[in-house]
Amino acid sequence: MDRPLPIKVRCPTCRGKAWIISRRTEGGRLRLVRQNARLTIKTIARALGVTPSYLCMVEHGRRAVTDGLFDDYLKAVQELEG
Ligand SMILES: [Zn+2]
Repeated sequence: MDRPLPIKVRCPTCRGKAWIISRRTEGGRLRLVRQNARLTIKTIARALGVTPSYLCMVEHGRRAVTDGLFDDYLKAVQELEG
């Protein structure tokens, strides 16, 4: 029997705090895309010209994902991945 996926994970960027990562939020989906591409939050933040802590809050659903940010984020992942 498979163990259920953890709903709380420790975020390396928000050290020492446990956060709930939801796949249902846009930020959570961006995080999954980034992790599948094996890219760090710092790498994406540098490409987008934002701070890693801001991007982290976006991924946690604590900051809104604007249309521009969503597209730029995915573009940055594709460029850095390839
Ligand atoms: Zn975090």
